[in-house]
Amino acid sequence: MTAIRLDGAAVARGIYSQLKARVAALGRRNVRPGLAALRVGDDPASTIYLRNKVRACNEVGIRSEVHALAADCPPERLLAMLDKFNRDPGVHGILVQLPLPKHWDPALAAGAVAPEKDVDGFTWRSLGALLAGHPLFEPCTPAGVVSLLEHAGVAIDGREAVVVGRSAIVGKPMALLLMARGATVTVCHSRTPDLEGHTRRADILVVAAGRPKLVSAGMVKPGAAVVDVGIHRLPDGKLAGDVDFAAVQEVAGWITPVPGGVGPMTVAMLIANTVQAAERQADSR
Ligand code: NAD
Repeated sequence: MTAIRLDGAAVARGIYSQLKARVAALGRRNVRPGLAALRVGDDPASTIYLRNKVRACNEVGIRSEVHALAADCPPERLLAMLDKFNRDPGVHGILVQLPLPKHWDPALAAGAVAPEKDVDGFTWRSLGALLAGHPLFEPCTPAGVVSLLEHAGVAIDGREAVVVGRSAIVGKPMALLLMARGATVTVCHSRTPDLEGHTRRADILVVAAGRPKLVSAGMVKPGAAVVDVGIHRLPDGKLAGDVDFAAVQEVAGWITPVPGGVGPMTVAMLIANTVQAAERQADSR
């Protein structure tokens, strides 16, 4: 068996063409969606991710502004900028590109973005709303995974799903989104004994462990949908995910490539959330 490739870049293009119509409709109400993005420090991967997000904003007609703070700046600088964006009516969505400096209190930024502008769905308020079953904005990476599965017609309701990774931005919200759509979800992590015993049961396997090629063909149930969130630059310069793509594609029913799978969908969900934020804010004026 050779798995069907879940082409995130193609699905994202379709999403952008629909969003352009909504941006045009907002334009007729004299509203241009605006996204303010902030990064702290000069992590090269963050710089590339932000560049892709700005390109996507341009594609659909969203105004974007990117601000960079020095890695050694006091956290108050970030809070002051977020406060300014929260109050700016031309900014409908705010993105704090992670990671933030390790010594900073993780609650700091997560508490400082206005919930109605939290288009990344990363604040604790957004995560709490998601847990309660009333999401404000779904976190972009897990929402992108679900959208990709749905576009491909992969059944979620009633299926066995296994998520590898329990981070607050990917693994945990991923489990909630799959559960909300009727899957029976197991969450595995670095302390899980017998990872393979769990992954082999999965009809849907989402891997977000940050470990290159962690998942081999023997760990996958034949015919499963395998979604690889991980992205790594290998010593030879090539990109790879958390899944051994070449081997697993011979076993799985569906599989995401790296790059071109989850990455473009994450960006598309950010753009969709920003358009939705602008629509909601325009409606409540
Ligand atoms: P993280 O480091 O915060 O969390 C990793 C999780 O994996 C942890 O819960 C850990 O317990 C678990 N884990 C680690 N080693 C494991 C192992 N051997 N077996 C089982 N579980 C293990 O990472 P994150 O922020 O959730 O990101 C995960 C990966 O996804 C990274 O490679 C990151 O770069 C990538 N990522 C990609 C996108 C995208 O848009 N494509 C978005 C976010 C993150």
